[in-house]
Amino acid sequence: MNRLLGEQARDAYATGSEVVRRIERLAAACPVREGVEVTRLDRAGEGYALRTGGGDVVARAVVVATGDQNQPMVPALARRLPARVAQYHTASYRGPGQLPDEAVLVVGSAQSGCQIA
Ligand SMILES: Cc1cc2nc3c(=O)[nH]c(=O)nc-3n(C[C@H](O)[C@H](O)[C@H](O)COP(=O)(O)OP(=O)(O)OC[C@H]3O[C@@H](n4cnc5c(N)ncnc54)[C@H](O)[C@@H]3O)c2cc1C
Repeated sequence: MNRLLGEQARDAYATGSEVVRRIERLAAACPVREGVEVTRLDRAGEGYALRTGGGDVVARAVVVATGDQNQPMVPALARRLPARVAQYHTASYRGPGQLPDEAVLVVGSAQSGCQIA
């Protein structure tokens, strides 16, 4: 585990809720602003100027961690399926109770597709 999150015994694993607790403790000690969209980033002298939904911010350094998997990609073919075929992207799938009680086709065989199958 990342040392910033505290000590961890060798070959031991923290549970998910323990990791969340540690991240929350770390975040409580930082000036975190949640739910604020960054709409522009420019160089400003030796640092950067950011335009955000919560006002302008200047910073010496910026880490962009906006993710590369947060836009669902649905094949164009999906639009040609009849409306009676329910379709879900993995981003909105939460469990089998969501699905009609009929045959299911999982499209895509990477980790998420295999876990869902
Ligand atoms: C459907 C699905 C299932 C997955 N299942 C697993 C799994 O079982 N196990 C696993 O290990 N990984 C899984 N992953 C992958 C995992 O979610 C990603 O690898 C991980 O979340 C990437 O973390 P990240 O911090 O780089 O980006 P994200 O978690 O995508 O975080 C990026 C953040 O940046 C924010 N953001 C974006 N643009 C802006 C902006 N302009 N201003 C402010 N904020 C912005 C977003 O709102 C988001 O909160 C899954 C991914 C998907 C899509």
